[in-house]
Amino acid sequence: MALRNILIHPDPRLKKMADPVANVSDDLRQLADDMLETMYNAPGIGLAAPQVAVMSRLVVADCEKDEDASPNPLVLINPTVVWTSPDKSVYEEGCLSIPDQYAEVERPKEVEIEWMRLDGKTQREKFDGLWATCLQHEIDHLDGKLFIDYLKPLKRQMITRKMQKLKREMARG
Ligand SMILES: [Zn+2]
Repeated sequence: MALRNILIHPDPRLKKMADPVANVSDDLRQLADDMLETMYNAPGIGLAAPQVAVMSRLVVADCEKDEDASPNPLVLINPTVVWTSPDKSVYEEGCLSIPDQYAEVERPKEVEIEWMRLDGKTQREKFDGLWATCLQHEIDHLDGKLFIDYLKPLKRQMITRKMQKLKREMARG
């Protein structure tokens, strides 16, 4: 396992559509392992492959909030939202590609998601609460969409300018 570099917004790769995964290869398994390690290390509750510069439809997440709970890592290949509840909920979201910036985003409260597991089998499951929000956020990444795209333009531009400044500082070391 190895830590991968997380891309910071703005980056053209974070705005691109990711490609479907054709089959579960050793490379893909390695990528999933690395992404989980990178996510836990950050620390974060979800990570999508484009955030580590791999344009594949792969997401990892672990939204167990209780610190005493054992890890519950989930790997979703080619995830699609097949149903959303009419009820909405609002969460203050953040993103490992937009460090230290948070904003409230409204999304469907419950979702049903279908994906391919690492064993190649298809799984379909309903999620609510933080899991539902997190997985919608991560699946958005596969379509080149960030949580700040839900915000008003002024707020989005303010965050983008902060990130540009952060990247300049990081580049200078
Ligand atoms: Zn994100």
